[in-house]
Amino acid sequence: MGEEQAVIVIDMINDFVTGKLGSEHAEAVVPNLRDFLERAKEEDILKIFVQDSHEEDDPEISHWGPHAMRGEEGSETVPKLDGLANRKLNKRFYDSFYKTDLEKVLKKNEIVEVILTGVTTNICVQNTAAGAFYRGFDIVVLKDCTAASSMQKHEEALDYMESIFGANILSSDEMIEKW
Ligand SMILES: [Zn+2]
Repeated sequence: MGEEQAVIVIDMINDFVTGKLGSEHAEAVVPNLRDFLERAKEEDILKIFVQDSHEEDDPEISHWGPHAMRGEEGSETVPKLDGLANRKLNKRFYDSFYKTDLEKVLKKNEIVEVILTGVTTNICVQNTAAGAFYRGFDIVVLKDCTAASSMQKHEEALDYMESIFGANILSSDEMIEKW
């Protein structure tokens, strides 16, 4: 089963974890995600990091202010997760599929199920789940490897993805048990 899955790590970059848009919830996810990615590596499961890398004129910049600007430290993978990606892709919108090579990379590797991790549960993770749903991928979201600015927003987004996109909401241990 493992070769048909890919882990997508969304926006685990300095600005969203410890920087200007960071949160204690995002920081708490780092060790869980690190352990999970190490296990995925043992299982030879593809791990793709998709990260904000913004230009000044991106629509998000007028909405949120400058963040994750291309070439700056804020747009770099958090140090504790760096080195665990098989592939890194830059994005400029919430949806990791939009104007990126993600779909192409997944199809090339014959992936049928994406395991979504990272931040923010109710923004980029949820929009990426929509992108995956539109393209026919099966979706797992790891509840202990995703985070939002509050637990309420986190839980609501998990419920939304489960009910609207048919996402399977699992803990990282539950996912590992299936391997
Ligand atoms: Zn952004």
